[in-house]
Amino acid sequence: MSSMSHKHLTQQEFDEAARISLDALNSCQPLSLKDRLSIPVQEMPSQDPIIRRENTKEVALGYTENQAKVEALRCLQCKNAPCINGCPVRIDIPRFIKEIADGDFQKAIEVIKENSLLSAVCGRVCPQEVQCQLYCTVGKSLKNVLKSVSIGRLERFVADREREEGNIKAPQGKPDTSKRVAVVGSGPASIVVAADVRREGHSVTLFEAFHKTGGVMTYGIPEFRLPKSIVKSEIDTLKAMGVEIKTNFVVGKTRKLTDLIEKDGYEAVFIGTGAGLPKFMNIEGENLVGVYSANEFLTRANLMRAYDRGMAATPIAMSKKVAVVGGGNVAMDSARTAVRLGAEEVYIIYRRTENEMPARVEEIAHAKEEGVIFHTLVNPKRILGKLQAEAIECLRYELGEPDDSGRRRPVEIPGSEFVMNVDTVIIAIGNESNPLISQTTPGLKCNKWGNIIVDENCKTSMDKVYAGGDIVLGAATVILAMGQGRIAARSINKLLA
Ligand code: FAD
Ligand code: SF4
Ligand code: SF4
Repeated sequence: MSSMSHKHLTQQEFDEAARISLDALNSCQPLSLKDRLSIPVQEMPSQDPIIRRENTKEVALGYTENQAKVEALRCLQCKNAPCINGCPVRIDIPRFIKEIADGDFQKAIEVIKENSLLSAVCGRVCPQEVQCQLYCTVGKSLKNVLKSVSIGRLERFVADREREEGNIKAPQGKPDTSKRVAVVGSGPASIVVAADVRREGHSVTLFEAFHKTGGVMTYGIPEFRLPKSIVKSEIDTLKAMGVEIKTNFVVGKTRKLTDLIEKDGYEAVFIGTGAGLPKFMNIEGENLVGVYSANEFLTRANLMRAYDRGMAATPIAMSKKVAVVGGGNVAMDSARTAVRLGAEEVYIIYRRTENEMPARVEEIAHAKEEGVIFHTLVNPKRILGKLQAEAIECLRYELGEPDDSGRRRPVEIPGSEFVMNVDTVIIAIGNESNPLISQTTPGLKCNKWGNIIVDENCKTSMDKVYAGGDIVLGAATVILAMGQGRIAARSINKLLA
């Protein structure tokens, strides 16, 4: 493995430093603008990379109370609050941060909950540096987005505190209307629809194809980034609200979508089935044993407890050398999971440079700390082996002119082939939507990529049928899926009013 950083502060050391800062800051209230801008960002305590490579526990440990208060004091409480424009669900960011600075953590989470149901999730996995924190005045003043107020970390802090203290209460709904709504899928888009529609007093049944709920938050994003207990707690809240959940139920197979309306009496349906169909490279050797889509690899690890070595019912063959193809969050999650499953060497293979990688900066840094080796400006040409993958032949690339996405186009260097010995290849180059529902639902219009077409109210081409999240947007983010769920729920509630 590559060299790793050994200087690692414990949570107690971070807390002690924050306590000293807080005492100093409290003694010079009120703080001037200059004072606030000179408070350093509170870094997130994390597990030591050497230790965490061997376990699946969460890497980031969360702020302590002192750290949260110091970080909250960095917020300038801007009147125009540009950060809110960067949040797809428009959380009142300055208001919840002010409550943290004043030490009222319960009020802070209540402010967040006015707009978001999954704060413990979003505080962890939102790509804040391209959303709320991108617009933060502090980051702009200090000319570095990484020095913006750590909005996500503060959101996580108050959400965790509420959960750990057992304070989560199921929201009160209106009296029952006896109108029935079917929600297909149980990812973030569907969770928001189920909660918002149930709150209006309508009966909600949630149909999930897998045996576990939560969508990608459960079977895709690994435990070390998003503990499953957090997702479970959100689902438990839905259950406590009276949402009925049917797992192992594949709409389009177990029952057709049109049957739900025409035979089963549902008055509206929401489709939140995500983008779970993996893309492949269509190169020689992709059908060899030891070649996985990231989807399959992560699902085995997350849902079938493959990380529980020797104990899992459906294990993954032990790998020694693993190549992960791709540069997004899914690629980083796969590489870091492979490390935890005991691989000796794990490589990221990406055809552009690190600057163009879509993965979050923090995830790239964590992967490197854990010893993942990055091969950039490299792309696979074919996978070699008789039955089992034995090696991957790659080509070197250079960057040419920008393409439609604005990123510089990778151009292969002829004759630059080289071979790397690996026994496992994980393809993490993106996902598209599963065509099952569209193929079995005449009249449901999709675009050429298979995404369901909706209007601004998330209504599809069919009456009473709404859709949102990755099935509409293509592979996107948790918060964008939630944002669409909110719009769809509003439309459904209007339809049933
Ligand atoms: P999903 O979460 O995909 O859920 C859809 C659900 O529908 C699934 O449970 C599926 O089993 C079910 N389903 C599908 N078809 C049927 C059917 N016919 N009948 C019944 N049920 C069905 N986003 C971030 O914001 N930050 C991150 O750090 C991040 N990391 C990611 C890491 C990985 C490995 C992956 C794969 C994605 C990541 N994402 C991340 C993206 C994010 O998870 C998705 O954008 C989000 O989960 C989409 O939500 P959704 O509700 O549209 O669908
Ligand atoms: Fe930022 Fe996401 Fe929280 Fe919105 S939900 S404030 S984008 S971390
Ligand atoms: Fe606070 Fe930054 Fe939002 Fe201003 S932009 S209110 S400093 S979080």
